[in-house]
Amino acid sequence: MTDTTATETGARETNNRETRAFEADVARLLHMMVHSVYSDKDVFLRELISNAADACEKLRFEAIGRPELLGDDPKPRITISADPDNRQLVVEDNGIGMSRDEMAEALGTIARSGTRAFMERLEAGKATEDSQLIGQFGVGFYSAFMVADRVDVISRQAGGTDAWRWSSDGKGTYEIAPAPLDAAPARGTRVILHLMEDASSYTTPYRLEGLVTSQSGHVPVPITLVEKPGAEPRDIADGTALWVRQKSEIKPEEYTDFYRGIAGQYDEPAVTIHFRAEGRQEYSVLAFVPGSRPFDLFDQDRQGRMKLYVRRVFITDDADILPRYLRFVRGLVDSADLPLNVSREMIQESPLLASIRKGVTNRVLGDLAKLADNDAEAYARIWENFGVVLKEGLYEDYERREQLLKLSRFRSTTSGEASRSLADYVGAMKEGQKAIFFMAGDDRARLEASPQLEGFRARGIEVLLLTDPVDSFWVTMAPEFDGKPLKSVTQGAAELSDVPLPEDAAKPAEATPEVGAFLAFVKSTLGDEVSDVKASDRLTTSAVCLVAPEHGPDRQFERLLNAAGRLDKAARPILEINPRHERVAALARLGDDDRTFKEDAAHLLYDEARVLDGDKPADARAFSARLARLIERGLAKG
Ligand code: ADP
Ligand code: MG
Repeated sequence: MTDTTATETGARETNNRETRAFEADVARLLHMMVHSVYSDKDVFLRELISNAADACEKLRFEAIGRPELLGDDPKPRITISADPDNRQLVVEDNGIGMSRDEMAEALGTIARSGTRAFMERLEAGKATEDSQLIGQFGVGFYSAFMVADRVDVISRQAGGTDAWRWSSDGKGTYEIAPAPLDAAPARGTRVILHLMEDASSYTTPYRLEGLVTSQSGHVPVPITLVEKPGAEPRDIADGTALWVRQKSEIKPEEYTDFYRGIAGQYDEPAVTIHFRAEGRQEYSVLAFVPGSRPFDLFDQDRQGRMKLYVRRVFITDDADILPRYLRFVRGLVDSADLPLNVSREMIQESPLLASIRKGVTNRVLGDLAKLADNDAEAYARIWENFGVVLKEGLYEDYERREQLLKLSRFRSTTSGEASRSLADYVGAMKEGQKAIFFMAGDDRARLEASPQLEGFRARGIEVLLLTDPVDSFWVTMAPEFDGKPLKSVTQGAAELSDVPLPEDAAKPAEATPEVGAFLAFVKSTLGDEVSDVKASDRLTTSAVCLVAPEHGPDRQFERLLNAAGRLDKAARPILEINPRHERVAALARLGDDDRTFKEDAAHLLYDEARVLDGDKPADARAFSARLARLIERGLAKG
């Protein structure tokens, strides 16, 4: 084969040798990888091994339908070879391999969404922390350039008749050229790292062995080490699947190591779930609740990350084994019963898989419930991280709503920084109280200052403060807990008369008969702006507040719908006026001779209630004119 060097980027010559520029994002990423100072360059090896293992698993899967792909080399294998004298490190697998086009696609572009966000964090200088995240963002391969100033990848696809060599110094371009078959793996991929001077320690056997056992000891493919050219290969990891081993024989470090590999997270798992289901269906589950939030937790696609295996053969990443609201759980299910020789799509539809889904979901929720009972503190941390996601289940999973409500934790007007369960809440309900009260909004401090809470506070009634956007949605599903409905304090009647004021509470002045007439006056003055004006039993110190009508969204949900343009016309709130408030009583006593003043006051009461709710006055110009008149009047008197 003759070598003609490409003269310019993008040139493709007769022998198919070609130099191409990296996609802009890749070039940027590579630049950052090489120029940021990582505390942890070691991750490159884990990433290359993980790719090699993936390639072996993909082949295992393809070979179910096409056993000839395996030829006379059916056992998957990863070989790490060091050449200290030439400062070279090779990671080779006999997996699925890559065609020419696959190489250009996989090693020249960035496929996964979310990667841009990752790069922005890298650029923001959070490099040490984020070198841990490389694997999560589908850019693991490029980490090779942290330790190598040139990387060659020689690959031959399973069943393919040609081999290709990809080569790059990571500085903007890469080259793809045909590789002579005698210098290529018989099947699979060889990644050759030409190590930088300061990375020469990655050719030391004990270093390599240490890295493999600590980072990659549980990849499901055996790993062999060749210490120097010509040395005897030596097995350093046996490739047994951790999940098929007995629980009692597995050390906590082994679980952690496995978790790190499968989750791409480098913290400790918060919960480890390992069990084998037997009976009508047989499957093993090894799953983890991460110790911190994974980066893709709030991605639009809400994709789960449970892997599906069938008899130790990896099938797919997206079998949707767990519902979306458990997407933070990382791990795998290995089924003994699912058929191997059908397509991934058909497996997805299989009733067997449906029953696995159910079993695994129940188990995960059951284990969380147990933890909540036995170690409230540990559970509270999990709730901090994943509660917002779990709550999605409150409106998505009707069947398990009760179970999920039990798992839910809340802050309330009486909880301080602790979190409360609904059972705690019900246990603290006041005599005569019929509902579980809540208030939803985005900001806890503002909620706590809301006038709508006054009457509840005065009676010592706890109110849940719901500050996650998801809260406004599930509460619309009319949830009940322990036979008690959840009720928004910003909607409908407060029903506070059910619970008497405590004996020692300062008794409010009686409402005067004039107040009734004044309310009617306010209502006619405000006209269409409000749907009603009512005497309030939920206010004690404030003069006014707004509530939503009994049916339909509460104040917060209304606001969300409005912001999303989902309300045809702005809903008209009810203005509640505190009939015992001094200012209200005084206004009510006014005669009719200063009508403008009284009308101004009516509008200002409404605007006051809006502002207390975090809104703007209804009509800014009219508001300022009224305010000015009021101030002038005050000045004239003074
Ligand atoms: P990820 O593994 O998350 O997809 P990487 O950057 O690690 O991201 O790898 C990019 C892609 O390159 C892989 O998805 C795969 O298609 C391809 N690839 C990398 N290494 C190998 C290999 N040893 N064998 C086959 N394909 C590989
Ligand atoms: Mg990878």
